[in-house]
Amino acid sequence: MPPTDADPRRHIPRTDALLAAPEFVHAARKWGRGPVKAAIQGAQEAARDGRIGPGEVADTAMHELLTRHRVATTLRPVLNATGVVLHTNLGRAPLSRAAREALTLAAGYCDVEFDLTEGRRARRGRGTLSALAQRLPEGTGALVVNNGAAAIALVVAALAVADARPEVVVSRGELVEIGDGFRIPDLLGSTGARLYEVGTTNRTSLRDYTAALGPATGCVLKVHPSNFRVTGFTRSVPVGALAPECTNREVPLVVDIGGGLLGPDPLLPDEPDATTTLRQGASLVTASCDKLLGGPQGGLVLGDPELVERVRRHPLARAMRVDKTTLAALEATLRHEVTPTAKALHLRKKELRARAERLAALIAGEFTGADGHEAQPAVPVEVVRSAGAVGGGCAPGVKLPGWAVALPEHLARPLRTGDPNDPGLPRVVGRIEGGRVLLDVRCLTRKDLPKVAAAVCAALRADVTGG
Ligand SMILES: *Cc1c(COP(=O)(O)O)cnc(C)c1O
Repeated sequence: MPPTDADPRRHIPRTDALLAAPEFVHAARKWGRGPVKAAIQGAQEAARDGRIGPGEVADTAMHELLTRHRVATTLRPVLNATGVVLHTNLGRAPLSRAAREALTLAAGYCDVEFDLTEGRRARRGRGTLSALAQRLPEGTGALVVNNGAAAIALVVAALAVADARPEVVVSRGELVEIGDGFRIPDLLGSTGARLYEVGTTNRTSLRDYTAALGPATGCVLKVHPSNFRVTGFTRSVPVGALAPECTNREVPLVVDIGGGLLGPDPLLPDEPDATTTLRQGASLVTASCDKLLGGPQGGLVLGDPELVERVRRHPLARAMRVDKTTLAALEATLRHEVTPTAKALHLRKKELRARAERLAALIAGEFTGADGHEAQPAVPVEVVRSAGAVGGGCAPGVKLPGWAVALPEHLARPLRTGDPNDPGLPRVVGRIEGGRVLLDVRCLTRKDLPKVAAAVCAALRADVTGG
């Protein structure tokens, strides 16, 4: 029987009307039109059966979509509009698409430690090690551990403590704090090694080092003071000058380069790289994988294969080994040279300005009514210069001049928290400066810009309606 005028089913909203509503357009963009349409039809069915009222169709469909797409982690993705490329609080290096795919692939069973031809145990992470070897001088040994700090601790434990030569010779100018209260000297001390500090805060000479070398020396450690710069009356000993002395005394020279560049980068002239450091004579190099290397969290021990093997054989190595997903993501990062980190660092100023102008235009565009009538945003949207940074404790002296969209400071919070009723909106973290929030476009892709504009407009509307 067709519904009569009095029949409430006449008031069930039509599918095409719902699909055109902004929240469903947004949902379809995110989850695909098919699933959104199916959720709407399911809710209409429920209304036809009288299980819900016609006025509840939209909400029911949306609720169904949200429930289905709720992910099982409390971590939330954010768009990094801080201009800081390696933002430690935002997870440092973002992974490339290739690395994400590799990580997902490795998440199930995989041959991480198994030879499929022979049907027996194989060297763990051999693909990753060979990818590393291809990016380093011939004959370089490599080990991947949990992070940069683990690499240092393990090397010192294996070369100094385990060898009953407990002294680690290190310059006073290089006893740095990595961040969040963690200090290299404490890390070294916790392994049972004894620090033999040489030189002064601002000056250390080759003689300071050579005078300290003796039968109790386990290794000489040089730490790249990556997160600060000493200027003025300073002196430190280059690896190239220290290496021959260490070789003469048969003491390993360990260099912690921190940032993880495998080769030199002209943009970062003061940032040491593994290849150059090894060529200069370092016995071992330690580094992070999620800084300038642009990969997942990890730590590298690179260099003399015999020493690397000694480090690998230390019992603590097992406590610091990396997950299969890390090995997969790292291999993919190494095999595809251009990482999102490198891209963000090397963007040209012209491109950055164009992106900032595009973002401002998109924000203004969202305020153009359906009739083409311009409804100006309630606040000024200004394109301004913005000083980005490498971040992650790398290259503190390097300024990354870029461009941003400036908005009133009070929008920073709603941009960060997003709209709980609209999970399609991204959370955007900007940088607060001079009483405004700057949305720096350096770490945003072109595809991110419309999402940021939508988030800004939602925050501005909530602002106007007092929501
Ligand atoms: C970052 C850094 C570390 C610590 O590396 P993590 O991967 O964060 O553990 C150690 N040394 C230097 C020089 C660094 O820059």
